[in-house]
Amino acid sequence: MSARKTAKPARGSRRVFSFGDGKADGDAKMKEMLGGKGANLAEMTRIGLPVPAGFTISTVVCAEYQAAGDRIPNALMPEVAKALVKVERVMAARFGDASLPLLLSVRSGARVSMPGMMDTVLNLGLNDRTVEGLARLADTRFAYDSYRRFIQMYGDVVLDVPRDRFEHRLEAQKANRRVHLDTELDADDWRELVREYLRIVEEETGKPFPQDPQQQLWGAIGAVFRSWKTPRAITYRKMNAIPDEWGTAVNVQAMVFGNMGDDCATGVAFTRDPATGSNVFYGEYLKNAQGEDVVAGTRTPQPINKESRSADQAHLPTLEEEMPKAYKQLARIRHTLESHYCEMQDIEFTIQAGKLWMLQTRTGKRTVRAAVKIAVDMVRERLISREVAVGRVDAGQLDQLLHPTLDPDAPKKVIAKGLPASPGGACGAVVFSAEDAETKAKAHEKVVLVRIETSPEDIHGMYAAEGILTARGGMTSHAAVVARGMGKCCVVGCGTLQISYARGEFRVGDTLVRAGDVITIDGSTGEVILGEVATVTPELSGEFGELMKWADSMRRLEVRTNADTPHDAKVARDFGAEGIGLCRTEHMFFEEARILAVREMILATDEIQRGRALEKLLPMQRGDFVGIFQAMAGLPVTIRLLDPPLHEFLPHEEDGIREVAEALGDDVAAVRARIEERSEFNPMLGHRGCRLGITFPDIYRMQVRAITEAACQVAESGVKVQPEIMIPLVAHVKELERLRALAEEEIAHVLAAHPGSRLKISIGTMIEVPRAALTADAIANFADFFSFGTNDMTQMAYALSRDDAGKFLPDYLETGILKDDPFVSIDRDGIGQLIRIGVERGRSTRPRLKVGICGEHGGDPKSVMFCDEVGLDYVSCSPFRVPVARLAAAQAAIHARQQKKAAARPVRKQARVAAKRATSTRGTRRTRS
Ligand code: ADP
Ligand code: MG
Ligand code: MG
Repeated sequence: MSARKTAKPARGSRRVFSFGDGKADGDAKMKEMLGGKGANLAEMTRIGLPVPAGFTISTVVCAEYQAAGDRIPNALMPEVAKALVKVERVMAARFGDASLPLLLSVRSGARVSMPGMMDTVLNLGLNDRTVEGLARLADTRFAYDSYRRFIQMYGDVVLDVPRDRFEHRLEAQKANRRVHLDTELDADDWRELVREYLRIVEEETGKPFPQDPQQQLWGAIGAVFRSWKTPRAITYRKMNAIPDEWGTAVNVQAMVFGNMGDDCATGVAFTRDPATGSNVFYGEYLKNAQGEDVVAGTRTPQPINKESRSADQAHLPTLEEEMPKAYKQLARIRHTLESHYCEMQDIEFTIQAGKLWMLQTRTGKRTVRAAVKIAVDMVRERLISREVAVGRVDAGQLDQLLHPTLDPDAPKKVIAKGLPASPGGACGAVVFSAEDAETKAKAHEKVVLVRIETSPEDIHGMYAAEGILTARGGMTSHAAVVARGMGKCCVVGCGTLQISYARGEFRVGDTLVRAGDVITIDGSTGEVILGEVATVTPELSGEFGELMKWADSMRRLEVRTNADTPHDAKVARDFGAEGIGLCRTEHMFFEEARILAVREMILATDEIQRGRALEKLLPMQRGDFVGIFQAMAGLPVTIRLLDPPLHEFLPHEEDGIREVAEALGDDVAAVRARIEERSEFNPMLGHRGCRLGITFPDIYRMQVRAITEAACQVAESGVKVQPEIMIPLVAHVKELERLRALAEEEIAHVLAAHPGSRLKISIGTMIEVPRAALTADAIANFADFFSFGTNDMTQMAYALSRDDAGKFLPDYLETGILKDDPFVSIDRDGIGQLIRIGVERGRSTRPRLKVGICGEHGGDPKSVMFCDEVGLDYVSCSPFRVPVARLAAAQAAIHARQQKKAAARPVRKQARVAAKRATSTRGTRRTRS
């Protein structure tokens, strides 16, 4: 076996891969070794596209280079020399030859495209002799334009000469000549500039500019490898979880020239419109230009065709008009590439003397909107399967489609930046209190609610506002969670805002913004903008619905929503929710008409007082549930009994305290004293959740009664109801045992008054206290279902306060201690174990236990993937995340199927290998003995 290996070197030992003249050593599948750019240059060559010949030095050499202390490994030299000869043969020119010089580009290219890597060096091989050869072959102006470009690029990226030294010199030359554009300079100008540039390099580096083309080439190759280790590249890799070992490849390629005259051009294009996804060819080009001129903004590029023309470009001629032959060829290549890659491509091309050359192709970046349209269109065009289409849309971004967004073309003055907590754009007059928000909204004025932070008392104001901006708090702060729930634009944790409620203003830097001034916030970027920016309402196209239909047919997880009002329930249902996974009853308590009764209930001194307050609340709660059951007709609705610490409901201002005192017939001082008694050192671990039900059983009784009566009422009107009562914050089985008995008693009581009723109400619990997960087998004896409350569970098991994490969590993310905010994506290694344990132990007692998750993680694609993996039955998330969860659940199911297939394959292969090995060892033994 080993003999065969040496006779025919394995593919892995080759360092240099040639392409050109229709043949290539590599192909598109070899991104690991050739990088994205190199692999696709090889692939384009293979499928017969016009690609200038060249070769790719494998990523493996990058590691060798570094291991050798930044030295080119000896074995590379002859391989490069051989590959270079091939390029010379195909291009009929010689590297370093004074009469027929071959020029090269040296381009970096990792597996994924990465900022921080070395910029491309063009026109390599030029020196004082070859430039004259080039001038004789073409013309002098072009030759010296190319030479000055080369000196600048090489000086900048290989020799570390500050780029602006060259740029200042160029500007000075243009000023001397009284011209604006590079193209207006003539041959003598460039000749003069080249002399100056050479002098600048010598001055900066203390050495003459390298004239030897071989030295130039190896200098550039080394610089590409070294750029893998620049701080910027390292930071980018850390943030994007790209392993340092990958390394970069180097592409060395024959130059083609877009700067040889007016029958030359260089350009970039997308095979479809990357903003809308519509199936039109879309791109820009510049005549008589090279390399990055198109994107550098020195001259205005022209549209390649009329489809790419924006409104203000009507006067610009297109490539289609100016170079019809080259355009036609490019348009054909567009189709070739799409049907070959079955994916939208982003391409770079150059036209030299009317001849088209392809320089790059890769998967094109696009907006979510375009992603949806392209995926669905490509299924219709039979380019991809439905499964592939569903997998191609980034689920996490899908909710951007559902909110009004800021017009991307509108000018804007950004004054601050916070965290993009809930997407969309909002614009309105600044208000600093929920009351003002409500009053103004009633007068049909658009407002943005600006708070240091929000609390449950602000909910009515948040409802009324177009958007919410806070100075404090993170992605799971109250404002963020509630705003996402409402589908409202929200920016949180904008630390530079100095808000003064007293003066009714906020400052940021030198800008003063007063109540009533108009601002705009962008919940997708976190930007705070002075004045009004137009918003655009996205249209939900037919493609969106089509894609979601396919996703639904592929997923296993059920998707529910967290909704507290009939309105939210309806929104979620329209987005495809299959039930409510979490209906928080406390939000209902904050409504203006009720809060007084709630406060009476909390501050009552005896059962009788409390009873009176509860009697007032009962019909109101019943009404709430009737509305929700009707909105969710036929679908399950999980209602959580009262959960937050009671002090959250209590008044802190004089008026409020007086009002409750009056209602209770008590004196103000006594009521204030009782309010103080309620305050806790650590409310999140204090008197809340089911502990309230243990201490004040009447409150839970009232809620169960309201739920059951509402269910009976709705059922009797002929609408199917499926209520599920959920007990929060259970830590010990005894808590649940007791509260379940209480609930069953109350249900039986109500049903006795409705003899014909066939209503079934299930009773379950949240699993959010770590102890509950660990003792899930015992708890499951009294639970019909579990719902993981992963916000609280993360907080408790991680010892991480949700409300204070904003002060240090960003450092954890920045330094890479944590890859994800554990309140955004489930921490698989830690919290994930508690969930696994909870599911396993719960189902060991009750095999058909229904298990779901509510809380912010339910709408996070990575967490949904995890939920599918551990076998949950459903996820529940805020209404606007429902489509996100549906798509993510489908992607999770596709992934699971692929894993299963992949797992099955090696088993068979292993078995074959094992069988072979068994026979061959036997064979060896026999010959030896
Ligand atoms: P990036 O990774 O930044 O896109 P590239 O390696 O693609 O860098 O090079 C940037 C530009 O340089 C290309 O778009 C192309 O215009 C120009 N370029 C690269 N190689 C060549 C070549 N062989 N001939 C002519 N132009 C080239
Ligand atoms: Mg490129
Ligand atoms: Mg909780």
